[in-house]
Amino acid sequence: MDTVEGPRPKAAEGELVVEMKACGLCGTDIEKIRGEYTAAMPVLGHEAAGVVAEVGKGAADFRVGDRVFPHHHVSCGSCRLCTSGSETMCPDYRRSNLNPGGFSEYFRVPADNVKRGGVLRLPAHVGFEHAAMIEPVACCIRAIRRTRVKSGDTVLVVGAGPVGLMHAILLSKAGAKTVVSDVAPRRLEFAKPFAGTVLDASAEDVPGAMAKLTGGVGADSVVVASGSPKALVQALKSVRKGGTVCLFGIPFEGSRLDYDLSDVYNREVSLVPSYGATEAETTEALALMASGKADFLPLITHRFGLADFAKGLDAAERGAAMKVVITP
Ligand SMILES: [Zn+2]
Ligand SMILES: [Zn+2]
Repeated sequence: MDTVEGPRPKAAEGELVVEMKACGLCGTDIEKIRGEYTAAMPVLGHEAAGVVAEVGKGAADFRVGDRVFPHHHVSCGSCRLCTSGSETMCPDYRRSNLNPGGFSEYFRVPADNVKRGGVLRLPAHVGFEHAAMIEPVACCIRAIRRTRVKSGDTVLVVGAGPVGLMHAILLSKAGAKTVVSDVAPRRLEFAKPFAGTVLDASAEDVPGAMAKLTGGVGADSVVVASGSPKALVQALKSVRKGGTVCLFGIPFEGSRLDYDLSDVYNREVSLVPSYGATEAETTEALALMASGKADFLPLITHRFGLADFAKGLDAAERGAAMKVVITP
């Protein structure tokens, strides 16, 4: 799998052309490359930050040289889904995308993304690598909001990958007691500074451990930062009566949940999926980074130039890397 090479794109009316400075490699990029992605048309690289290289006619808010985070998806803002708070379900949301994607030297930002506030200007002290994490952090912010986490809650995050740890950082900031579980020793070791408690799911009974940590009650909420149906079952078993399980990781197409539905009913468990992020959340993610109150940079373990994209993919797939960032 290669990154996109070709002639530098031109900005049509209302569009921007951005010179990529950093673009995060997301688990969904790997799934898109391996053909397992279930959510939308594959465009590679959606965690990008860079410098405006060309401004299309009418995109008057921007100048060549502006440092920006361009969100790859924007909703229309006026349909029934948008006005009822399901903005990321808007038909326009998945239609808009960076072209040819963030893993290229230059890419176009569609006019709608520019017009509807999808492009954020970066304060001088927010670096491109941090800005490349605005999108995934924004997705986590939306998920935590949908899960209605409150200060003092005990929250289990299943999956200690980069987004699992972004959740842990945000949850701790929100005043929650965080527990992170995974089966990979390297990830568990890496997770320690970011979580109150780390559970090795290959050796420990996670639901039992959660009960013990909460006086027999169970976790107030569980964020499933993994696409595995087994992780979801573990979450359902770990959450307390009346608690919420947030489905954050994308399940593989055709995944089936093997779980007794009467238990979900009798224990009044809410299952809340969270897909993507809106401009409200990307703005919040950037503000959080700019304030210095949350630092996601320690999650970046590997950096590769575009020419070594395949090496970055390999490091992420083998589990050797936490967050991988691609640079020009
Ligand atoms: Zn992503
Ligand atoms: Zn809409």
